[in-house]
Amino acid sequence: MDTEVKTTCPYCGVGCGVIAKVAGDGKVSVKGDPDHPANFGRLCSKGSALGETVDLDGRVLHPEILGERAEWGQALDLVAQRFSDAIAEHGPDSVAFYVSGQLLTEDYYVANKLMKGFIGSANIDTNSRLCMSSSVAGHRRAFGSDTVPGTYEDIELADLVILTGSNLAWCHPVVYQRLAAAKATRPGMKVVVIDPRQTMTADIADLHLAIRPDSDVALFVGLFEHLIALNAIDQNYVAEHTTGFAEAFSSASGTSFNEVLELTGLPAMQLREFYRLFAATEKVVTCYSQGVNQSSSGTDKVNAIINCHLATGRIGRPGMGPFSLTGQPNAMGGREVGGLANMLAAHMAIESAEDRNRVQRFWRSPAIAEKPGLKAVDMFRAVADGRIKSLWIMATNPVVSMPDADAVEAAIKACPFVVVSDVLKDTDTARHAHVLLPSLGWGEKSGTVTNSERRISRQRSFLDAPGEARADWWQLAEVARRMGFSQAFDFPSNAEIFDEHAALSAFENNGNRDFDIGSYVGMNRQAYDELPPFQWPQPAGHGATETRFFAKGGFYHADGKARFITVKPAASDRTNADYPFTLNTGRIRDQWHTMTRTGKSARLSSHIAEPFAELHPRDAIEIDVGKAGLVEIESPHGRAVVRALITERQARGSIFVPMHWNDQFAAKARIDALVAPLTDAHSGQPASKNVAVAARRF
Ligand code: SF4
Repeated sequence: MDTEVKTTCPYCGVGCGVIAKVAGDGKVSVKGDPDHPANFGRLCSKGSALGETVDLDGRVLHPEILGERAEWGQALDLVAQRFSDAIAEHGPDSVAFYVSGQLLTEDYYVANKLMKGFIGSANIDTNSRLCMSSSVAGHRRAFGSDTVPGTYEDIELADLVILTGSNLAWCHPVVYQRLAAAKATRPGMKVVVIDPRQTMTADIADLHLAIRPDSDVALFVGLFEHLIALNAIDQNYVAEHTTGFAEAFSSASGTSFNEVLELTGLPAMQLREFYRLFAATEKVVTCYSQGVNQSSSGTDKVNAIINCHLATGRIGRPGMGPFSLTGQPNAMGGREVGGLANMLAAHMAIESAEDRNRVQRFWRSPAIAEKPGLKAVDMFRAVADGRIKSLWIMATNPVVSMPDADAVEAAIKACPFVVVSDVLKDTDTARHAHVLLPSLGWGEKSGTVTNSERRISRQRSFLDAPGEARADWWQLAEVARRMGFSQAFDFPSNAEIFDEHAALSAFENNGNRDFDIGSYVGMNRQAYDELPPFQWPQPAGHGATETRFFAKGGFYHADGKARFITVKPAASDRTNADYPFTLNTGRIRDQWHTMTRTGKSARLSSHIAEPFAELHPRDAIEIDVGKAGLVEIESPHGRAVVRALITERQARGSIFVPMHWNDQFAAKARIDALVAPLTDAHSGQPASKNVAVAARRF
């Protein structure tokens, strides 16, 4: 008999609802859930192919110690022992967890609780550091909280949608479909795409601004200055709900129009038109993604954008606001439970003694991390130089995705004790594990995820756990138990973890923190299983969902006001005579991350079958590479060899290479091996774009 289950897509941060059907013969097919408010029945190519990726080929089906099959008890005892030994001998900061935006919120919650509240270190960071941590830092600086003010509906309601550093058509395809449908219905709606490359998203643009890489701060500081010069400021909003305007203004007024032209490389007519459109349009949404975040100036870019929305009071009202589009299915859920090394839980601040005390009292824990832990790049540096003695990696493949990936691989290889929890046996990372633990995959695991618009949805299981695979939260709780923390990790099921998470969000909250889902405390298991998608906040005792923030102020700084952040434009060209090209990495439409799941679908691989380097025709002539010839790309950190894709959609002097491929699918195509481990000073997010490289015919 066929069974149908409502669940959520495990790929991007759009968080589409999926109806999965398991036929009598075990075949899985999927369709979009018409009732899910993120997608209303739509799916993109990746989501539609989910049924093709649930086979058991390559799965790790039982625990392994040093490549040999082991019993769960043996493996868990060993993990607990090695972590306890390292802590006893070298202190709590000698161990670390590196987790993932692929984890469910319940997994994340238990990992964070164990590390920050019981081990007493904040050395838990996540691959979301590579995805959107600059947005988190920008939100916290401006709003006093990590709050996305708007909803997807705002993109449909806006009269001007600005997409900066976002190839929406390929990276958030269903939001793109919603935008395209809205524009088709209201042709007067304008779309501006800001991207050095002419991506597929640029095809919908009324105006494409091919700015120089990393010149976004200059562009938005220039806009801020222009808005002031035009007297297009919402004086009431600025006076009542913000501070820091005068300082930001005084700094911006030092940036002339000509300087913006020079830094961005834009033609004057295009720049004027962009500034005119923004000033003249009340309903503006500015969406931004990895082109903004993955930068050494990512946080400043975010704040330069937010400054313009605060100055015009265009925030939190229908069709208005800055909008961070998260890359991963549960980057937001991870933020909510404190999955980042510099956050606590339920959006509380690790720097605040009051917050630390509150969380410790709630957990009744023996310890609490006193300071922020190591962020991803620093964490792997600490692994490399021997400060980290035991490392647990969950649901991520840093040997492919981290910057300076060869150095990361060498660090993991040399680490005295590495645990990997994953679904696949032979990833570039899993092959270095001392202990490999079999985790549940999509369709097998069950819990919640949060999408870019703060909507919490259920991922539900519809397949049996294969072999001896177990949930990540269960693995963590069992290790915690063996480390002597039985009572605090006695979770009979994921429902009790969600309940505790909801209770912590409401604990002594009183409206002081943005994240509050107190109305879901005390649900029974059936109610949890049936939980429909909802947006936070949902405080106990409040009926209606508040879908937008900050239209009337109410920011989370102590004075209730937002902060204008003074940001300074700077030259961003990193090229030199030895490395004269700018490498830009990113996603393609039909692959996801390091291809461990999408790589299984022949249909998805037929879109683009192999890694490539997008080059401008004149650059191809210069380095003597013909159509489909091989290009060798090199930086001081590594090299890759990929096929040339020669196109005028690429800017001169720039090269785009997708980040997906790894040694499993194509030799010498791990492009993150070339990326320097350079990070944003505020967020610690690596600059995965704007990398100086050399390119030559291979
Ligand atoms: Fe999945 Fe994102 Fe595609 Fe939606 S848009 S189906 S969440 S990959």
